[in-house]
Amino acid sequence: MTTTFETVSFTYESLLEAIQPASGGRPINDPATGQQIGLVAEPGVAELDDAIHAAHAAQRGWAARGHEERSELLTLAADAIEANAEALAQLLSREQGKPLNGPNARFEVGACSAWLRATASFTLDVETIVEENGTLAELFYRPLGVVGAIGPWNWPMMISVWQLAPALRMGNTVVIKPSSMTPLSVLALVEVINSILPADVLAVIPGGRDVGERLAAHEDIAKVMFTGSTAAGKAIIRSSADTVKRLTLELGGNDAGIVLPDADPDAIAEDLFWGAFINTGQTCAALKRLYVHEDIYEEVCEALTAVAKNMPMGIGLDENNVLGPLQNKAQFDVVARLVEAAKESGARVLLGGEPEVDQPGFFYPTTLIADIDNQNPLVIEEQFGPALPIIKYSSIDEAIKMANSLDVGLGASVWSSNKDSAREVAARIEAGTVWINKHGAVDPRVPFGGAKQSGYGLEFGVEGLKQLGAPQIING
Ligand code: NAD
Repeated sequence: MTTTFETVSFTYESLLEAIQPASGGRPINDPATGQQIGLVAEPGVAELDDAIHAAHAAQRGWAARGHEERSELLTLAADAIEANAEALAQLLSREQGKPLNGPNARFEVGACSAWLRATASFTLDVETIVEENGTLAELFYRPLGVVGAIGPWNWPMMISVWQLAPALRMGNTVVIKPSSMTPLSVLALVEVINSILPADVLAVIPGGRDVGERLAAHEDIAKVMFTGSTAAGKAIIRSSADTVKRLTLELGGNDAGIVLPDADPDAIAEDLFWGAFINTGQTCAALKRLYVHEDIYEEVCEALTAVAKNMPMGIGLDENNVLGPLQNKAQFDVVARLVEAAKESGARVLLGGEPEVDQPGFFYPTTLIADIDNQNPLVIEEQFGPALPIIKYSSIDEAIKMANSLDVGLGASVWSSNKDSAREVAARIEAGTVWINKHGAVDPRVPFGGAKQSGYGLEFGVEGLKQLGAPQIING
């Protein structure tokens, strides 16, 4: 392909302007200040149907371009994101609340281009299954058609790219329904990507649950990529049943971390902190329950507290901050309720636990809770915020039993000075990914997906790419 593109160049203001509705719209407010940042149009089911119709009509032409040309366009889209990274990060920070710095808004925009580039680079070979006596059985992956993408509000840009990049690379067209909490971030991202893609290959239809339900039920949607809560995932399974849609479900988690007695508390404290508090705890595969051996329990509590109390939290646009507000009031209320339940049970507050009542924004302070029972609601429910329960254990078998006691299993981690013993423990944990001496580190080359009710299907890598294709055997 030799087409040249003039790279679009947005400021924060011009990017926001480009995605504002011509008239009307619902206000979107900054969760750190409560100030309105813009408006979002709220198309309904009829507009969704139109977008699916257009994506369906565009799909054959997109598929006909072939892998090489599509990969080239995805790489150019990554370039366009990089050229507009600061405008995208500013909007993401204002709408989602996450700070510009730390593993937050600029990091998320960087991940968007990194995932697009990696997805464009994978080799998808035809697989020869049998070749003998004049018979050749080969496995191909064909495009599915139109893929529907439904996403959450915690990493709205990055997760949209996780869904759209492999779908487009495989020759599908895509219609996205972003979370109604963070639609502007996804509209802005797609505005930039669509400066490169042909018309109707990628569309965004903001809307609420009715739009999501319609997308999951629509007869011209071949597959739904869904990331969100386990409850909504179950609803999507039901909505999609009549059309036997393919589904990739990345659902809720409540990840356990197990610190073995030979770990060095000071050496692991900062990585433990970020494993739990990345994006102010609003991360699917964040460390949400920490199990520490009794021999080093107090040292780990002290080391973690020392790190946590120095991490600045505040308005995302302040360059000093690395932690932000909760994205919405409902999430703030979940965290406040669970921490109250822990305090009422007599658990020990090491840090935080007392939100300021008279401040704008949904800020909940960084909270560490020790001496907590494994059945406490703060342990068994997904808190999805900056509050970490630390549970003491005395035998590895007990720790593994507690880690495996829930019906979800997205990620987990084992912390030890001896990687071999950590790997042995890791093999016994029921989770899609078990990290060693880190937590939540995702890589576009390494498949990622949940065990148990954290979902099914894989994302990332060649395995993830294949899940956006229809396997076809030609045998003769
Ligand atoms: P959510 O389930 O409330 O919403 C996610 C999306 O689904 C939104 O766009 C929403 O409008 C839509 N939706 C809700 N009900 C629907 C229905 N019946 N049919 C179709 N669409 C519907 O989740 P959230 O609150 O935005 O995100 C937080 C949750 O997402 C947490 O549980 C978190 O663990 C999970 N999550 C998982 C991953 C992962 O990779 N496994 C990543 C990020 C977040």
